Amino acid sequence: MHLFTDNRSIREYLSSWLAKGKTAGLVPTMGALHRGHLSLVNRALSENKVVVVSIFVNPTQFNDPDDFRRYPCNPEQDISILRKIMREEDAVFHPPAKEIYPEPDTRTFDFGGLDRFMEGAYRPGHFNGVAQVVTRLFEILKPTRAYFGEKDFQQLAIIRHITENLNIPIKIVACPIVREPDGLAMSSRNVLLTSEERQTAASISRTLFSARDMRQKASLPKVKQWVTERLNELPGMEVEYFEIVDDRTLAPLSQWQKNKGMVGCIAVKLGKVRLIDNIRFS
Ligand code: AMP
Repeated sequence: MHLFTDNRSIREYLSSWLAKGKTAGLVPTMGALHRGHLSLVNRALSENKVVVVSIFVNPTQFNDPDDFRRYPCNPEQDISILRKIMREEDAVFHPPAKEIYPEPDTRTFDFGGLDRFMEGAYRPGHFNGVAQVVTRLFEILKPTRAYFGEKDFQQLAIIRHITENLNIPIKIVACPIVREPDGLAMSSRNVLLTSEERQTAASISRTLFSARDMRQKASLPKVKQWVTERLNELPGMEVEYFEIVDDRTLAPLSQWQKNKGMVGCIAVKLGKVRLIDNIRFS
């Protein structure tokens, strides 16, 4: 496995593979790798001749400076984990910020309204920062495919949107959420939870699963209220939002839809840690 820290070397390395007609898969991450990330890497390994995992904690997507400061970071450990599963020809790209942003990135993106609700509403500027880093990585690496997790459901929709809108010839591959044995969606931020908070956190997915089972018996507003009240009762937990949205427009729904995909998306604060999760209702 190769390790690159500058744009030019990785670009040269990858273009030599692409010139031979080989496929390249990109897995963008912010490090602090867990099994969720590794599921993306394994999928990419099974579908591409060469795989690049990028590790870059992107400052422009943090709307909260404390969240950026606290974000877990252990690139040496990440690299040694990847060494165990990647092949000789695969690569890690771990650039310093000046490689990604040689100048301040002033680009603003249009997400066609997909950013109006949920993360877009609660984390102003977040998706613009995500779009900046993802389009920079796409521009530098020009992979055949790029892999993203459904854990960040709204992010995935937004990345699909910009890729199509900007005619970027990269296939976006969505990968299912990987959970801990008690159901908690794996996240780099989980290590920031105290042991009590970690136990409480299991209720997030448990409540979402129960909510899905209530669909036949209860109206959508009732289910929303039930989820919110139930989680807000738990010590240290505060629901930021729980919305059941159309899976294409991401617009919050007020009643169950027959022929449309629906996804319940949640963000909670548990102590100082912000966690998100989602579940398909159809
Ligand atoms: P991050 O390092 O948090 O930016 O995540 C990098 C990629 O891994 C994103 O596409 C995430 O959606 C994906 N990811 C993070 N957690 C999980 C998970 N539990 N299951 C599947 N994918 C995940």
